[in-house]
Amino acid sequence: MKKIQMVDLKSQYEKIREDVNTGIQEVIDTTTFIKGGKVNDFQKNLEAYLGVKHVIPTGNGTDALQIALMVLGLKPGDEVITPTFTFIATAEVVALLGLKPVVVDVEEDTFNISIECIKKAITPKTKAIVPVHLFGQCANMEAILEIAKEHNLFVIEDACQAIGAKYTFNDGSKKQAGCMGNIGCTSFFPSKNLGCYGDGGAIFTNDDDLAARMRAIANHGMVVQYHHDLIGVNSRLDSIQAAVLNAKLPHLNEYIAARQKSAAIYDKAFAGNKHIITPAHFASSTHVFHQYTLKLVDIDRNAVQAKLKEKSIPAMIYYPVPLHLQKAYQDPRYKAGDFPIAEKLSACVLSLPMHTELDDEQMNYITSAVLEAVK
Ligand SMILES: *Cc1c(COP(=O)(O)O)cnc(C)c1O
Repeated sequence: MKKIQMVDLKSQYEKIREDVNTGIQEVIDTTTFIKGGKVNDFQKNLEAYLGVKHVIPTGNGTDALQIALMVLGLKPGDEVITPTFTFIATAEVVALLGLKPVVVDVEEDTFNISIECIKKAITPKTKAIVPVHLFGQCANMEAILEIAKEHNLFVIEDACQAIGAKYTFNDGSKKQAGCMGNIGCTSFFPSKNLGCYGDGGAIFTNDDDLAARMRAIANHGMVVQYHHDLIGVNSRLDSIQAAVLNAKLPHLNEYIAARQKSAAIYDKAFAGNKHIITPAHFASSTHVFHQYTLKLVDIDRNAVQAKLKEKSIPAMIYYPVPLHLQKAYQDPRYKAGDFPIAEKLSACVLSLPMHTELDDEQMNYITSAVLEAVK
């Protein structure tokens, strides 16, 4: 049996080796390392895939979030609402820009930001909501967009884990993750669902004005060369990463299908087990399974993880500490117990291997080992 990994990028690469190598070689041969044709091609290809007007490639997903917040013209102390159960980047950029992160609790079933908690957190200083489509499933965007409209707030979607997920609104219309709010952000970190071979990210928007300004901010605030209209940053996707992404984007739908197939096998194997709650499927969103995350009930999670490790099966805790309990984010506004759902989830979640290359033999081995470990 092939070695089981959380993510198997090598096996995935073997199948697209020619395309990746040819693309990278072309970049080297033309020495257009920054802002080359490959980056423009990828931008157009991704705009077409998402059905969004503007894709702005960036150096990584964290920068994408930062640039999205920079363009809104917010002032120090303005409040930005984000979930407490997520990866740190979301709150980090808010804090770095001198804005005030206001964290709220999540829904126990979907792990995504709680609508009721957003409503309670809104003050006259609230300027934006940053929902995170955690683990590959969209947050309740219908409700979030409604709240934003009512209170005149910006919505910036953190779609770093959810590229390719589709959301269906009550009127039947469908949109891609990251293409519903004012701005969407994604990451091409190697292990993400559409990953490059280094760092990369992108911003999505249908707003021409925001797009033009974010494109400038990502490139030193420059519109005409060496004329700086805005204070910017240096955050560009490089051409070698764009070449990798051009080779992988045509496979994104099959990659998503492969993840969903493995998730369905896990779902079936664990259904009805009293110690395991499998991921909830939110009716309005497809799930692209960046992670397949179990909730363990009445059983020692560390012991389960250790038993899996004995059988060479990695399993990870995403995320062990919610934002409001992180050392760097200590704040007199928050204390342990304030966000009970996030705290409960941090104590019981366990993510199993999830990637595009899991085969039947590996899936059988993992599911049997998990069932054995929770006995
Ligand atoms: C990966 C990730 C980011 C950051 O992306 P980088 O490309 O690593 O900077 C931000 N938010 C979430 C939810 C992520 O999963």
